[in-house]
Amino acid sequence: MRYTIIPVTDYQQNCTLLVCEKSNKAALVDPGGDLDILLREVEEQGVELEAILVTHGHMDHIGGVAALSKQLNLPIIGPHRDDEFWIQSLTEQCRMFGFPKAESFQPSRWLTDGDTVQVGEQVLQVIHCPGHTPGHVVFFNADERLAIVGDVLFKGSIGRTDFPRGDYQTLIDSIQLKLWPLGGDIAFIPGHGPMSTFAEEMRNNPFVAVR
Ligand SMILES: [Zn+2]
Ligand SMILES: [Zn+2]
Repeated sequence: MRYTIIPVTDYQQNCTLLVCEKSNKAALVDPGGDLDILLREVEEQGVELEAILVTHGHMDHIGGVAALSKQLNLPIIGPHRDDEFWIQSLTEQCRMFGFPKAESFQPSRWLTDGDTVQVGEQVLQVIHCPGHTPGHVVFFNADERLAIVGDVLFKGSIGRTDFPRGDYQTLIDSIQLKLWPLGGDIAFIPGHGPMSTFAEEMRNNPFVAVR
């Protein structure tokens, strides 16, 4: 599996283009906006988009979902249903934060812990990691030792928990009880900022280091 990180919107949100190299099929994870940039990348790589994947319902992650889904007739996969209230309030989120206007949507498929999602022949495991938002999911490719974690975990930090239905201890538990057991060798793409590995965060992240 090949991946390309494309920061989008004023929030520099890491949209990820995932490509199954065997089938040339691809998915965009969290197309928060700047669809022209994303579609140019898809075209340059000559891959066939088959789905939109969503980690959670914040505007910088879902702002471009409805438009992209309509334009290319793509299914929307995720997040967990507990983020439905965030998706439904998308227009309001955009207005409140001065974000480009975006349309809400109904996912084609809600995800739950233990589900799998396929991109071409690649299998992603779904891990429900509430705390930043209640319906946040993480996508994990066991073969490639790669996780796409959205705003659950960052290099040196963790997601905010001061939003409605966010919860600090729930987020810490999601990271320590659900992500760390996957293995220190896993590289992760966070929703913002540079990549890191679980081992590095277990050592150095002041919020979730293992002492
Ligand atoms: Zn977020
Ligand atoms: Zn974000």
